[in-house]
Amino acid sequence: MATQEETFKNIVSHCKEYGFVFPSSEIYDGLGAVYDYGQNGVELKNNIKQYWWNAMTKLHENIVGIDAAIFMHPTTWKASGHVDAFNDPLIDNRDSKKRYRADVLIEDQMAKYDEKIDKEVMKARKRFGESFDETLYRQTNPRVLEHQQKRDALHERYQKAMNANDLVELKQIILDEGIVCPISGTRNWTDVRQFNLMFSTEMGSTADGTMKIYLRPETAQGIFVNFLNVQKTGRMKIPFGIAQIGKAFRNEIVARQFIFRMREFEQMEMQFFVRPGEELRWFEYWKQFRLRWHKALGLGDEKYRFHDHDKLAHYANAATDIEFLMPFGFKEVEGIHSRTNFDLSQHAKYSGKKIEYFDPELNQSYTPFVIETSIGVDRMFLSVMCSAYKEEQLEGGDSRVVLQLPPVLAPVKACVMPLVKKDGLPEKAREVMDLLRLDFNIQYDEKDSIGKRYRRQDAIGTPFCITIDHDTLNDNCVTVRYRDTMKQDRVNIDQLHEMIRQQVDMTVLLRKLL
Ligand code: ATP
Repeated sequence: MATQEETFKNIVSHCKEYGFVFPSSEIYDGLGAVYDYGQNGVELKNNIKQYWWNAMTKLHENIVGIDAAIFMHPTTWKASGHVDAFNDPLIDNRDSKKRYRADVLIEDQMAKYDEKIDKEVMKARKRFGESFDETLYRQTNPRVLEHQQKRDALHERYQKAMNANDLVELKQIILDEGIVCPISGTRNWTDVRQFNLMFSTEMGSTADGTMKIYLRPETAQGIFVNFLNVQKTGRMKIPFGIAQIGKAFRNEIVARQFIFRMREFEQMEMQFFVRPGEELRWFEYWKQFRLRWHKALGLGDEKYRFHDHDKLAHYANAATDIEFLMPFGFKEVEGIHSRTNFDLSQHAKYSGKKIEYFDPELNQSYTPFVIETSIGVDRMFLSVMCSAYKEEQLEGGDSRVVLQLPPVLAPVKACVMPLVKKDGLPEKAREVMDLLRLDFNIQYDEKDSIGKRYRRQDAIGTPFCITIDHDTLNDNCVTVRYRDTMKQDRVNIDQLHEMIRQQVDMTVLLRKLL
């Protein structure tokens, strides 16, 4: 049995080998935490985006989309707080010359205490068997209590230091906890410094006429600055939402775990504008709706959980993450935030423009409150990949790698294969292709044995393989082989289109969310 770490490594190499994800500019040895999507990756990614876009805009008549520019007026980022506060605390180890996020080092240390506690509990469960009372054990066992006490003390000290932005204290915590660099094994740390995550560049051509601008670190601000444009031109009535999909850029200090943390990535964000006082009701609605959106894909309900924030940003009055069980643990895939009227008020203040909504029912004007749902396309892609990737042992000692992707997301829906490259079978196969290819992404493959062709399609997650043989010329039937069960059926060519549609049609999935 492969460990989770090995499985993850295998998923990363599979993504490369089968044209899903390549390291960026690989011929020059790549660029840290930047990736390119290949021929299959782009299809899967587009399908994820389409599922999100349709679920937001088609299922909600009061949500419309926009596509704002990546470059925005620099004052945007002053107003949003990113210039002053979009920082991570970084620390270097002088011996290994490796750079770390101080907060991550401390959080990892807390996780170590949790692991120790879990180990004690696991050992006790084995020892006591049926009669084991976990709650009582956690409350009374001296070793567990000692770890718990250390963890709680660390948590409190850490929270205080983070809230106060106390970098000296963060370093002191690292020293006091005896945290060592995983590479050099030493405690030879530099001071902790703040590091702004925004990339900047210059706009304009003359030396004194240039303006420092930023590559947006989130797509949300493009929505806020267009609030009035969309509300007025679309005659939108509150509550209503604006959705957007687009690239965002963050100069992440530690970029690891493949496409989980990238420096250039893509977000799908929706800002929902509501009456002040109604935001928590809508927050609850969006929490539930977004979770249903994830679960409808069938990746496994047990792989999701909410993680409510106990530490809220100063402008937020509720926030939660939807976490997904990756091979490296439960990790944030999406954030849902109740952001009050912070962003619109800030833009009103910095631009000097009035950004308000006149509510005809209340006969009054106000700055709307906002619920945001924000999901990373790439993290969603990774969660789909991780749950789909299976290494299967087959009867007769054979094995296969299969991507059990939800058929609606699969890059290729069906592969059409003539059994042999002669006797009119390729021509018949082309006819079958023509019946299907305008509605579905279809591949044609006539090379190698049928078995090898099946494996190639399994590896990219194609739900159907359609084989044309000599009998097809007489009975108009083909052999359909299903990816997951590997079972085969004889199907009339006239029924193929409907059979595929039922499995891959996005409207079927969207209907589940109604
Ligand atoms: P994290 O705590 O993991 O850095 P975050 O809380 O900063 O994430 P948000 O600012 O809430 O993330 O961004 C919303 C979503 O954008 C995240 O849930 C995630 O899916 C995605 N995202 C954020 N940063 C990255 C990144 N560097 N690479 C890929 N996706 C990202």
